[in-house]
Amino acid sequence: MTRPRTPLSTVQPLYLSAPDALALVRRKGLKTCIAGIAANIREDFLRWHDFDKSARVANHSRDGVIELMPIADDTAYSFKYVTGHPKNTALGLSTVMAFGVLADVATGAPTLVSELTLTTALRTAATSALAAQTLARPGSRVMALIGNGAQSEFQAIAFQHLVGIHTVRLFDIDPAATAKLAANLAGSGLKVQVCASTREAVQGADIVTTVTADKQYATILSADMLAPGMHINAVGGDCPGKTELAADVLEAAKVFVEFAPQSRIEGDIQQMPADFAVTELWEVLAGHNTGRESAAQITVFDSVGFALEDFSALRFMHAAALDAGLGERLALIPQLTDPKNLFGALLAEPSDRASTPTSACVA
Ligand code: NAD
Repeated sequence: MTRPRTPLSTVQPLYLSAPDALALVRRKGLKTCIAGIAANIREDFLRWHDFDKSARVANHSRDGVIELMPIADDTAYSFKYVTGHPKNTALGLSTVMAFGVLADVATGAPTLVSELTLTTALRTAATSALAAQTLARPGSRVMALIGNGAQSEFQAIAFQHLVGIHTVRLFDIDPAATAKLAANLAGSGLKVQVCASTREAVQGADIVTTVTADKQYATILSADMLAPGMHINAVGGDCPGKTELAADVLEAAKVFVEFAPQSRIEGDIQQMPADFAVTELWEVLAGHNTGRESAAQITVFDSVGFALEDFSALRFMHAAALDAGLGERLALIPQLTDPKNLFGALLAEPSDRASTPTSACVA
């Protein structure tokens, strides 16, 4: 009797580890990666109706949330696993940790398994910059950056290169975080001003980015801090019970969101009535709706992070990794001579199993 055996895999997903993703971004350049992801996000937002969309699935606990973010079009599927645990940094862990998958819709076969912690920072900055390109007053040059943690450098650099910001005014309740951000931005070409409070930081700013982490209804920004024509890029209010903007900021502004059904649950607009008027960013990009209506209008991008942005980022990282020859094939799916004989894989000689690598480098 011939025993079925598991052949060596050639069709397995690419695995992009955290070190490989870092190497990829270093090799291509941060600016190029953020710009490339922003271009993909724009392209995918313009195909809005091609996607099967849903609000993400969140499991809340006392100190954090773990979320799953699926999306698909006719050919590709992706999901992201992502955490939001603001107290983690005190334990030496990141607030946001993520990984994800791209898959082929026709067969369901995964094509990429990737780190997404770094990639989330890139895609969040890319989305913020894309929104500001669309909504902020042309000629915006000064940005207040409130919350100087893991996301902050990426936001600063995206706004420098995609929006034209030349000065950042920094504030964090943790002075060490601000010192870290200022040091990391030295040599970037950005003029860096360290401020003593949010109120001081927003003075003279064209754009205010709030990217703080605190699992509470925080009030980082209130209407009395606003100036006519400001654009607010509110990134950190992204979970039920976790907000950054006072309700009077939202009342004073025209508010833009990614995917309204998700943003009404998670965004700063969770504080507002269910029929509070918002415009989805894709509508403005596609020319179906107006963005900013006057130079004096205050605009808010109430960002929470939407699965389509991760889809766009994953396809950027996948193509870039293949191009650069980075990543490894991951032996994730059993490769069967007879796909109906999964059990037969158990009967393979131990030597056959031993000869099946857990991963093999991409040629
Ligand atoms: P982080 O923990 O590394 O940094 C957060 C910083 O905010 C810390 O330095 C903290 O001291 C500071 N902070 C907290 N309260 C503050 C206050 N009242 N005033 C000023 N600073 C304050 O977190 P991170 O990875 O940079 O993420 C920041 C936030 O962005 C988180 O809330 C995260 O959930 C959110 N996020 C949103 C998206 C999105 O797509 N919208 C994507 C990624 C992260």
